[in-house]
Amino acid sequence: MIQATDTIATQTTAAAAPILQLKGLYKQYGHNEVLKGVDLDVHAGEMVFIIGPSGSGKSSLLRCCNRLEETSSGSILVDGEDITAPRADLNRIRQKIGMVFQHFNLYRHMSVLSNITLALRKVQKLPKAEAEKQAHHALQRVGLEQRADFYPDQLSGGQQQRVGIARALALNPKIVLFDEPTSALDPELVGSVLKVMKDLKAGGMTMVVVSHEMSFAMAAADRVVFMDGGNIIEQGSPSEVFGNPKHERTKAFLSSVSHNY
Ligand code: ADP
Ligand code: MG
Repeated sequence: MIQATDTIATQTTAAAAPILQLKGLYKQYGHNEVLKGVDLDVHAGEMVFIIGPSGSGKSSLLRCCNRLEETSSGSILVDGEDITAPRADLNRIRQKIGMVFQHFNLYRHMSVLSNITLALRKVQKLPKAEAEKQAHHALQRVGLEQRADFYPDQLSGGQQQRVGIARALALNPKIVLFDEPTSALDPELVGSVLKVMKDLKAGGMTMVVVSHEMSFAMAAADRVVFMDGGNIIEQGSPSEVFGNPKHERTKAFLSSVSHNY
């Protein structure tokens, strides 16, 4: 009996190990402290939404997670590995954590296919044929397999962002971080990107999304985290945070953006 309970406890612990774990994360730019001891766990298959006013540290937090920015102190574990360790292998880290940017960050002089194979060849050192095979597969996942030979300027903003997502997926990451993925898009193009994100979630991808798409968060997020002034002020299910915010700052923020959801 005791043995059986032990087995269950062990299994539960193993299943609950977070994919991403931030512990006491601090970040300063010069004297400006923008992250002030952030703790956050993201579990496998979760979609965590981060909301908060401009300047609250959302982008800094995401950028620290794949070492686009260095943290001042604290630790970031991805799949149990501390990526802030001085000897951490940046290439390996960036394979584990995909990043999708507001302005897509595609190379304009390179085809869609080359934009995606670039990291596969440089970071993963894959031969051309294998990189192209993986890139085609990633394009299929975002519904753009017919656009492999196009250049970014020949695509709509929504399609460019889906290429940005395919580029992140091609590395077969453990988690994908999205920094305002639809903020630069015309309204009629937003839906196609959100649909891809919803499909990814349905496929079990772990995601952290900074976005103002509150109705999408309501429908798709497992958890909403409200940040202000470099701290997490509160978090909970979308209906808890949107429907019954506890903190005054959350209430004030939500009422200032209430026309969005
Ligand atoms: P958010 O994404 O929530 O708008 P950011 O993380 O971009 O917030 O910014 C948080 C704070 O850090 C802001 O005060 C911003 O001016 C500052 N900041 C962001 N990036 C840099 C940088 N590269 N150098 C100096 N200050 C920065
Ligand atoms: Mg930002």
